[in-house]
Amino acid sequence: MADFVLLISDWYRLNARELPWRSTKNPYFIWLSEVILQQTRVDQGLNYYLKFIENYPVLNHLADADEASVLKLWQGLGYYSRARNLHKTAQQVRDEYQGEFPKTYQEIIQLKGIGPYTAAAISSFAFDLPHAVVDGNVYRILSRYYGIDEAIDSGPGKKIFQELADSLIPESAPALFNQAIMEFGAIQCVPNNPDCGSCVLSASCASAFNPELIKKRPFKKGKTKVRKRYFHYLHLEKDQQIALDQRTGKDVWEKLYEFPLIESDDDLAPSAFKDSAHLCYQTKHILSHQHIYAYFYKSTGAEIEGFELKFIDKKDLPDYPIHRLMEKYLESEE
Ligand code: SF4
Repeated sequence: MADFVLLISDWYRLNARELPWRSTKNPYFIWLSEVILQQTRVDQGLNYYLKFIENYPVLNHLADADEASVLKLWQGLGYYSRARNLHKTAQQVRDEYQGEFPKTYQEIIQLKGIGPYTAAAISSFAFDLPHAVVDGNVYRILSRYYGIDEAIDSGPGKKIFQELADSLIPESAPALFNQAIMEFGAIQCVPNNPDCGSCVLSASCASAFNPELIKKRPFKKGKTKVRKRYFHYLHLEKDQQIALDQRTGKDVWEKLYEFPLIESDDDLAPSAFKDSAHLCYQTKHILSHQHIYAYFYKSTGAEIEGFELKFIDKKDLPDYPIHRLMEKYLESEE
């Protein structure tokens, strides 16, 4: 065990990428980077991180911002609930802790939208507390190195990996260990075809040079079922005005803006559009658990039955936070 910790810590000192959130102890910046980097590649997330700390250099600026501005800055990153939670949590820290991030794991994990992974990351990186982070990279390395085939999407599996990581983390350098194991997964023990020949762990790794074991680890029980949805959008413009709606309810893209929408069970044009709009664009938009078949209809300007249309000035459209599917359509129009 000691070897594992020593080897990846030494590897990290030699191979770590220089990233701005690694050279700070500011818990607000660390938290921002962690939220941005969930489900986002580092090269893409980096620009967003820099934009956020430029626009909101202290936590209270983010807390005081209006939600639409936060969503606008987030536009393009996807998984918008992350941005909404980020904003709400900033307000909680402003209101309950006078804008100063709490300094213990127990307090941090009580904050809205912060789970064990993010709480461990903030506690260790900002406050040097010995809490092990377990993300996708960590599952992969531990399962391959130690030969653990317990499903990582099961309760018992999660517990086993968390306990193992907690038992490995050195009290003297928790931040370094957490950074090292995650970086090792991102650069060396990558999901597909890792280069075991150049790996410092190959002499003691339970999966080294074995493509079958590498492929099956980490083991997952089952894939989530994909839901098919059919979205029919109405693009209606008149007198320099454009019809726009805000999404409501607990669903994808909550509170983002889009054209008036009819969702149906199939790809047939809704009867309301038949005589007054024509199909001008269609695409399949893939989200993690849903496939959205999207159809955009341009209206000829005639009345559309059953729609309560709200209009904005067309020139103001860039100020509204919109989702990627809307962006795709607008790009196709250019
Ligand atoms: S030897 Fe191969 S499978 Fe094992 S940790 Fe290194 S890269 Fe991953």
